[in-house]
Amino acid sequence: MTNKFYHMLLLPMLFYASVLQAQKVPSPKEFFGFNIGDDYKLTNYTQASAYFKKLAASDRTKLVDIGLTEEGRHQDMLIVSSPENIKKLARFKDISQKLAHANGLTDVQAKSLAAEGKSVVWIDGGLHATEVVGAHQLIETMYQLVTRNDEETLNILKNDVILLTHANPDGQELVSNWYMREADPKKRKMDVPRLWQKYVGHDNNRDFYMMNMKESQNISKQLFVEWIPQIMYNHHQRGPAGSVLAGPPYRDPFNYVFDPLIVTSIDAVGAAMNNRLNVEGKPGYTQRAGSQFSTWWNGGLRTTPYFHNMVGLLTEIIGNPTPETVALVPDRLIPNGATPNPVVPQQWHFRQSIDYSVSLNYAVLDYAARYRSQLLYNIYKMGKNAIDRGRSDHWTFYPKYIDSIKTAYAKDKKAAKKDSSRNQSGEFSFGREDTIPNKYYTAILKNPVNRDARGYIIPANQTDFPTAVKFINALLYSGIQVQKATADFTIAGKKYPAGSYIVKTDQAFRPHVLDMFEPQDHPNDFQYEGGPPIRPYDSAGWTLAFQMGVKSDRMTDAFNGPFQVVPYGAIQSPPKQNLAAAAKAGYLLSPSINNAFIAVNDLLKAGVEVFRLPKGVAGTPNGPGTFFIPASAKAQNVLVKEASDIGLKVSGIAETPAAVVKISPLRIGIFNTYGGSIPSGWVRWLMEQYHYNYTQIYPQEIDGGNLNQKYDVLIFVTGAIPALGRAEATAGEGGPGRQPKADSIAAEFRPWLGKITAEKSIPQLKKFMEAGGTIVTIGTSTNLAYHIGLPVHNYLTEKGANGKERPLPGTKYYIPGSLLKASFDTSEPANYGMPAQNDVVFDRSPVFKLDAGAEAKGVKRLAWFATDKPLDSGWAWGQKYLKDGTAAFVAPVGSGEMYAFGPEITFRGQAQSTFRLLFNQLYSNK
Ligand SMILES: [Zn+2]
Repeated sequence: MTNKFYHMLLLPMLFYASVLQAQKVPSPKEFFGFNIGDDYKLTNYTQASAYFKKLAASDRTKLVDIGLTEEGRHQDMLIVSSPENIKKLARFKDISQKLAHANGLTDVQAKSLAAEGKSVVWIDGGLHATEVVGAHQLIETMYQLVTRNDEETLNILKNDVILLTHANPDGQELVSNWYMREADPKKRKMDVPRLWQKYVGHDNNRDFYMMNMKESQNISKQLFVEWIPQIMYNHHQRGPAGSVLAGPPYRDPFNYVFDPLIVTSIDAVGAAMNNRLNVEGKPGYTQRAGSQFSTWWNGGLRTTPYFHNMVGLLTEIIGNPTPETVALVPDRLIPNGATPNPVVPQQWHFRQSIDYSVSLNYAVLDYAARYRSQLLYNIYKMGKNAIDRGRSDHWTFYPKYIDSIKTAYAKDKKAAKKDSSRNQSGEFSFGREDTIPNKYYTAILKNPVNRDARGYIIPANQTDFPTAVKFINALLYSGIQVQKATADFTIAGKKYPAGSYIVKTDQAFRPHVLDMFEPQDHPNDFQYEGGPPIRPYDSAGWTLAFQMGVKSDRMTDAFNGPFQVVPYGAIQSPPKQNLAAAAKAGYLLSPSINNAFIAVNDLLKAGVEVFRLPKGVAGTPNGPGTFFIPASAKAQNVLVKEASDIGLKVSGIAETPAAVVKISPLRIGIFNTYGGSIPSGWVRWLMEQYHYNYTQIYPQEIDGGNLNQKYDVLIFVTGAIPALGRAEATAGEGGPGRQPKADSIAAEFRPWLGKITAEKSIPQLKKFMEAGGTIVTIGTSTNLAYHIGLPVHNYLTEKGANGKERPLPGTKYYIPGSLLKASFDTSEPANYGMPAQNDVVFDRSPVFKLDAGAEAKGVKRLAWFATDKPLDSGWAWGQKYLKDGTAAFVAPVGSGEMYAFGPEITFRGQAQSTFRLLFNQLYSNK
């Protein structure tokens, strides 16, 4: 075919194709009937998803269904690039993966792949569904990228593969339908009756190292296993007052396990975003200390990528379909490094936020197009650095080591002063007080004992191995390379069985590995020396292995064995178990294995009798509270299945044990409120995972009384019960937010309105317990103890100037989300299955002092802080005040009971090692 002939053929075809494309891709206005960003207009996910299918007709796109949501919708990702690139997506994905993993590549090979590859940029929207700019800017950005033919757009399409992902379809459906249901635009509001993610609402952005929710799993698979983009941009809404948006770079502290290139790359892309708005005359961008956002925490959609060497971007922008006003915040009007171009007070329309968002997306995409090969090479470089660090002796400098240096130096200096023979001259006379001799560096920061781990072994013979497998799966969802032993092996004299898992740190995502296994060491962060603490953006410490109670051995020397690499993202099942043969009298299940509670609930539902053994079985690993199930065909049916399906270890027993206590299921009520309580949603999810039946109970039903008729046990999570002296729980305490007027919502939602009040609700709760009911309170809801006058007080107080007790001030004591070691009385039925010491999630949690004579009144201490240094991970300023404080107790109330757990024992579905502190209370033993 000659060139001439080819052109003759091709030209009309091209012309035809572009006409076809113009016909196939309607504008948002043509499709939805309004422009994205018009006042008082929102589109739901059903419509948006139908529009994505229209856009998918363009040869610039490929539509991908990344999985089902919790409510069963298909979650869409639209890939946009040039038509040439779209044909070669498999190749570009492969290059992206190879460079991100950095494994087995030379620098030369990496350079060559970086030259060939395309920048992969993730942009999402809609994660927090009431932040409606998110989902709507995504639609507008898609439309512009698919239809614009300007030079910049074409250059972006040529150099970038763009992953435009809807982060929460269920939420957009709920919120948009709710807002648009009012015919009168002025009446449209976002006050939705329930959480905008089936279980966890806003906490859908707190799930990205755990991946409990289906949306988190779908997203993580694309981010960490499939595409591994070099840049990911997570859109949120609510700019700090007096600004239009908060964006990158963010304030300190950043996490010590990051590669420095992450921090400087966030600076670079942030500058491109901020710069572009200034060129376009769009003021109001605030960065660094201008907002609360930092890069310390792992677990957010934006932050988990840092631990995978990805440049994670977050913007929090103002804007609403109902026009609003930019507030006057006088201090924000003076330009400074945080806010170089302040915005002035004015009315603000939705479309302005859409335009800002598209500009910001274009800034990121343009940056990615211009620095394409550098971005690709840099993610390789970070991965390579990580592999090198994991393959040699390496030390991460944590604040605790810096403190050790300072302490050691101060001690030596004091000793030297006493010793007159070593006077002023010599090693302690430096011009600057903060300059100290290098020997401290060598002695402490290069101490072999303080080396980073080369890897971790998770032995298959640990008691709750099925939970360890859940932990391994969280790593696999996150793209971590995991190995599995194919045979027994011995390392450093210790024997490990086949099936044990190994996670080495000589891998690209080493920061994430360290973060999941090692304690976080948050710096002491105060507004000024001696001043109040600066609240971290989220948790200060979260080590997942600790929260889940996973046992692992930390290896600081190179090690090897009969290890087989598990394919990236290949989710594991616990090893199938067989039912023990010697089950003449019956079966035993250890309450130290979380999955045992699934089996117990299934057995009870099948009508099988289940007992507990208060003293366990002497001479076996089955400790206090072991479940005993008499042998029967029915029991065997259930147990054979669960031993295989959920890896449950069931042992047999030849003789019926002497002391047995029969248990039966309770009728469970979980507190909830209009708008939805997030911690309550997590408990609801947990109940379903562990096969409990439950009902949700709202304040109006509580106020109505007669609770014993319908419930045996009620669960109150943080935020439900108001503080003593307050009429009702406030949103600030984690309680319900603003609620609509009853006549403005449909009748079906009206029973959900209301709050727990001291006046009406608390007396009913007291009556419920007096008549034999059980109440389990968690976190701030332990306030109930004070309302009903139990003989306990706040432990964390001091005497003020007037001689009266007052809470310890933040300058002396402050513990944001962290993991603390608590002690447990393992013979107490409430604690069955707990070890004597275990980490608890502590988040400014209540701590109690039992009054003199409390024990005589039947109050029992369940958990306490035994030392003055209980911190295991995070930040605990003034932790010495916790020593001997009570973390949990149970008290009789009439013929019923109240349980108080100060720590967050069900925290975000992560604190697996303390779930049984709730589960144990959900059976009757009467
Ligand atoms: Zn948000």
